[in-house]
Amino acid sequence: MFELGMPSSIDTNRVYDCMVIGGGPAGITAGIYASRYGLSTVLITEDLGGQISLADIVENYPGFPEGVSGSDLSARFAEHLKRYDVPVLYDRVTHLGTITECTYYNIPCVFEAQTLGGETVKARTVIVATGASPRKLNVPGEAEFTGKGVSYCATCDGHFFVGKTVLTVGGGDTALQETLYLKKIGVRPIIVHRRNEFRAQRYLQRRVEAEGIERIMNHVVVEIRGDDRVRSVVLENVSTHERREIEVDGVFVFIGVSPNTSFLADMGVLDQRGYVVVDREMKTSVQGLFAAGDVTGGLRQVSAAVGEGAMAATSAHLYLENMDRQIMP
Ligand code: NAP
Repeated sequence: MFELGMPSSIDTNRVYDCMVIGGGPAGITAGIYASRYGLSTVLITEDLGGQISLADIVENYPGFPEGVSGSDLSARFAEHLKRYDVPVLYDRVTHLGTITECTYYNIPCVFEAQTLGGETVKARTVIVATGASPRKLNVPGEAEFTGKGVSYCATCDGHFFVGKTVLTVGGGDTALQETLYLKKIGVRPIIVHRRNEFRAQRYLQRRVEAEGIERIMNHVVVEIRGDDRVRSVVLENVSTHERREIEVDGVFVFIGVSPNTSFLADMGVLDQRGYVVVDREMKTSVQGLFAAGDVTGGLRQVSAAVGEGAMAATSAHLYLENMDRQIMP
């Protein structure tokens, strides 16, 4: 993840045209587009880069036929944003609300974001691009051993396990891709998955098979055990409920993600799973409020996030243009 090193010259008395919350591919693209539309834009994020900066290799983002590391791609996105006049506030938004009556069409909303650092930022439109965070197993030992053998990021922590055995949990693209990465750097991974077939793309399944990676299907992790660090896991067969303990040095959890939307609880724009509901133009049911990227629960690919960020900024621009036309005599 990156910080651009520029001073965050945020004017808290000003009402910006556009506030982008989130600094992954969707948020960065939205910031670039909003600025190019001439909107006064502010971007609030804890760090620039997003989840993709943790990926070992991105092989399906057009323009990089040989693949590109997630950190390199994120760094290029961040560099691109730097060319535009978009101040970045490195902070976490804890609450988003409105400070004007927004229920009537033609009456523009003014949004106000509060941050953990105590700042208040106001804008006429908001683009939420806060992405999603790794889901937890919620089994005994997981919290206790996080950072002591339990990890959610192979590129961050894999090197601690070179020459050792780890369990990787999950059956999606992330689980298989990260397991292949661990194998590549010299870790001995064993995949455990709760069903008898993987959800991941076929080409990843074929690579896991070709690498001869051990798989334990139809099992779930019920406990992680250790002393000062992880020593073993208890697995349960989902059909027979038989349990067995296997010795491992680490556990990497890749069982999907949850959207980062708790700060939006008052806006009434979330579905039952906590994702932001948007239409094809990335509009929510609240006028002036848009969302893009993983936070909308869509395809969850960099290319999709970039497209949605561009669409959200375009919609914000059109919305403001329309508002200004109606307000001006
Ligand atoms: P995902 O596709 O939602 O897969 C999550 C996996 O974890 C599933 O196999 C699921 O099992 C399993 N799981 C969920 N809860 C579990 C639990 N409590 N205990 C045990 N297993 C559990 O998530 P993802 O792999 O992170 O992928 C997220 C998105 O990013 C996807 O759209 C994916 O295509 C994309 N992605 C793409 C690439 C690529 O293009 N190379 C790489 C990474 C991610 P079930 O299968 O039984 O539901």
